[in-house]
Amino acid sequence: MTKSARVVIVGGGLEGLATAWSLAERGETDVLVLERETLCSGMTGKSSGIVRCHYGVPSLAAMAWHGVQVFAEAEEIFGTDIGFRQTGYIVGVGENNTEPLAANVAMHRALGVPVENIDANEVRTLWPGISLDDFAAFAYEPLGGHGDAYMTGMAYGTKARRLGVRVQQSTAVASLLQRENGEVYGVRTTTGEDIHADTVVLATGVWSPALGATAGVEVPIRAQREPILLVDQGEPTPDVPTFSDLVNLHYVRREPNGDLLVGNSDHSAPEFADPDDYSNRATDDYIETAIAKLDRLLPGMPDPRLSSTYAGCYDITPDYNPIIGPSPAPGLFLLVGFSGHGYKISPAVGRLAADLLLDGISSDPTVDGADFRYSRFEKGKPLASLNPYVGAGEMR
Ligand SMILES: Cc1cc2nc3c(=O)[nH]c(=O)nc-3n(C[C@H](O)[C@H](O)[C@H](O)COP(=O)(O)OP(=O)(O)OC[C@H]3O[C@@H](n4cnc5c(N)ncnc54)[C@H](O)[C@@H]3O)c2cc1C
Repeated sequence: MTKSARVVIVGGGLEGLATAWSLAERGETDVLVLERETLCSGMTGKSSGIVRCHYGVPSLAAMAWHGVQVFAEAEEIFGTDIGFRQTGYIVGVGENNTEPLAANVAMHRALGVPVENIDANEVRTLWPGISLDDFAAFAYEPLGGHGDAYMTGMAYGTKARRLGVRVQQSTAVASLLQRENGEVYGVRTTTGEDIHADTVVLATGVWSPALGATAGVEVPIRAQREPILLVDQGEPTPDVPTFSDLVNLHYVRREPNGDLLVGNSDHSAPEFADPDDYSNRATDDYIETAIAKLDRLLPGMPDPRLSSTYAGCYDITPDYNPIIGPSPAPGLFLLVGFSGHGYKISPAVGRLAADLLLDGISSDPTVDGADFRYSRFEKGKPLASLNPYVGAGEMR
């Protein structure tokens, strides 16, 4: 007998599992998640897990705010720690970006996000020793911080399973099954098994274009390699806020062991990579540039040394925003292209995907489901920040 489920989700990362959980919460438990390796073994396992509501797209700010609220109640919702630490989040901008910062903060306040404008003295109180010469203004979200994307994804998966969702690991999908009229009606695994579904959800991140192509759907994402550094300052970093530097284009947060995690926000010269064959280490040139930026921000590090480096790939779309919605092939729903910012919004992504799959419309009036539709690229209407930053346009 052919295996079947009403909804087959291909990809057991944060977004696929958040959707499985949300569908099950809404009573749709005939859901099967297929993961080619083990849950959260894809890019979710490499996420920096930064949580902020600072977006220039109102739907995304509202989705991140929903994420903060879910993460803050994670123990209650999932019965487990997801590593969320509300260290606070600061974004700092230069003279040329004070206006967009003010406009974004006003927009966030209107959405109910707790956010304050703070001055350099207040930043120095929160992070003693930080050097702020490059900055003209700051916004502070006291409820932001960072979480552990692996633990979060596993919590979604565990909760979904408890509610009745089936999860099958070590099951790679080779192709989508498609009728002559173009409708997708299931998947074929690499072992030749066919699994039928009313809807197939493609949640395969950077690996999505090849699978989409098996049903003639062009998935407009590319893999952008992003290295991460872990730096031992010479003494454990105290509990400081997560800091996003929109002048020198990097971000810094504390690791649970007291190291600093340092990531890049300069997307002016993206490095595209093969997600199945890329270097998992930062190059010497990259390390030199990143450490110079870090030194400028934290000139008083007592005895800094590199603990380690690794790299992941963002699944970027042309506008650095996700695609959440039906594809041109009926029966195929896209949940891809989170472009390096899919952690904080994942609870809202699951909720929106479940809304669209079950009702065809977002249940949250502050989140416009149409923002994320596939057709925006065909129509030449990318999803753009209302208040873009000069030189940091990809800070969505
Ligand atoms: C280095 C890095 C730092 C980041 N930092 C942040 C951050 O600070 N804050 C933030 O909000 N976001 C961040 N992100 C983004 C966030 O982590 C991602 O958007 C999110 O984890 C993507 O989840 P996903 O489920 O879409 O993809 P993935 O986690 O990659 O999951 C896709 C899954 O599909 C599976 N799969 C692939 N092909 C097949 C197949 N043929 N059959 C079956 N299964 C298949 C894979 O094995 C994988 O498990 C970061 C990402 C990276 C890479």
